[in-house]
Amino acid sequence: MALDDAHVLFSHQDEATLCASMHLHKLKPTGKLLFYPVCDQAKVKVKNIANTTNTVANTPAKRLFLDISGPYYATLLKYWVLIVDNFIHCV
Ligand SMILES: [Zn+2]
Repeated sequence: MALDDAHVLFSHQDEATLCASMHLHKLKPTGKLLFYPVCDQAKVKVKNIANTTNTVANTPAKRLFLDISGPYYATLLKYWVLIVDNFIHCV
């Protein structure tokens, strides 16, 4: 089985864990693991920033929460951005 296919099938494990899992299931790994660098970037620890607040906006667009992830090289979309307005709770 191709390492890339197994990587997705076995919940995006790193190469050593993936090969051990494939060995347990009597699967022979083939090819190179190409998805892993993208997953490695996604698993980087984020900075220790509070993700809650007691401050509430009293007008629309006064307090926005933003989250961004990427870059993703395996898809056409390179970055994913989410913005939430604290006042209207709208994405
Ligand atoms: Zn992955």
